[in-house]
Amino acid sequence: MHDRNHDRDHDHDHSHSHSHSHGHHHDHRRLGRELALFDTDPLMGAGLPYWLPDGAVVRHTLEEYVREAERRAGYRHVYSPVLGKRELYEISGHWEHYRDDMFPPMELGAEEVVLRPSLCPHHALVYRSRSRSYRELPLRIAELGAMYRSEPSGVLGGLTRVRAIHLNDAHVFCAPDQAAAEARAALGLIRRAHADLGIRASRYRLSLPGPGGKYVADPELWRRATALLREALEGLPYEAVEGEAAFYGPKIDVQIEDAAGRESTLSTVQIDFHQPERFGLRYIGPDGTRHRPVMVHRSVIGSVERAVAHLIEAHGGAFPAWLAPVQLVVLPVADAQREAAHALVRQAVDRGLRAEVADPERGSLGARVRAARKVPYQAVIGAREAEGGDLVDVRLRDGRRPGRLPGTELLHRITDRVEARAPELWPST
Ligand SMILES: [Zn+2]
Repeated sequence: MHDRNHDRDHDHDHSHSHSHSHGHHHDHRRLGRELALFDTDPLMGAGLPYWLPDGAVVRHTLEEYVREAERRAGYRHVYSPVLGKRELYEISGHWEHYRDDMFPPMELGAEEVVLRPSLCPHHALVYRSRSRSYRELPLRIAELGAMYRSEPSGVLGGLTRVRAIHLNDAHVFCAPDQAAAEARAALGLIRRAHADLGIRASRYRLSLPGPGGKYVADPELWRRATALLREALEGLPYEAVEGEAAFYGPKIDVQIEDAAGRESTLSTVQIDFHQPERFGLRYIGPDGTRHRPVMVHRSVIGSVERAVAHLIEAHGGAFPAWLAPVQLVVLPVADAQREAAHALVRQAVDRGLRAEVADPERGSLGARVRAARKVPYQAVIGAREAEGGDLVDVRLRDGRRPGRLPGTELLHRITDRVEARAPELWPST
């Protein structure tokens, strides 16, 4: 994810503003403040949002989801530092082709270190750290890590235009004849994740180089990489667009639209012959000689900032139960049921659910139900429920009233829904 246009959604304002608009109340900035998900402070700096506890829950749950999906797909996770020496980016080509978007270097004694503009060079070094055999390939290295972009202050805002980006990134190092299949598998992972998260891609874009000097010059490598991406896209509708490639290679961009109909890139798949050359990457083939691997760069959900911004807007702040900051609110009608309510919440928390009590001093029952309107499950405990043993009166966020259930039965049902990441709160019959 190194194309300069990635976060420049305003580039597309005019061409796409006619498409469906959900109205300004689904703007992620407004909902983010209203629901206390994230905020900014001028003292931390523009484009450097911080995450409040409820937003942090959504982000953490999303990160865990992606790590698990990657683990199942054969990825291994690493951590690498957010800084690197200037020479690292000179080798990768970022210094030559991407410097305008990088923070200026910091002098540290005789060294110059840079806030990284991407994770790829670090992962190339992880690959290079030991000798590799063809038997290890494809080697899939993943990291959810920070990278930085010196966006001008005038365009910053919310979670979509930021200077610190936390990217769900991975690099697959493979033999050339494995690259198309790896790119296709990455697309499959993206499509499954979008289905699980309720994200609708607006289109697939094959991003090719355009006129201008920002691309590395090697027509043969561009041609080969483009052919492999077309192979990976076979059977999917896509549009080829010039001028949107990364500086080192073509890419597949999975596009989404925000609440105002503006298009941006969420997920990407790229095939890169350039950086393996620059870093002198090798593997020992079955013939016993050294060969050059290919790097497949891919991101399933893009940056967590953009992904959460999109989820806030797509769900209008009413997240599916598995992502919701609070999954269950328990409402005692009067003080007499307070103890039963707290006991049920303790039981829910012990089961791994995110649950809270809304005590009577927070207002009338109606006011408390309204305050919890984004919470998927509400359990009311009145005198009648308390007399019935461990009963609760169940209400769903969407207005449905499934009725009275034992509290433990409700917790069991919610846990099932959450573990299945079900989009529906309750069976429809
Ligand atoms: Zn990369």
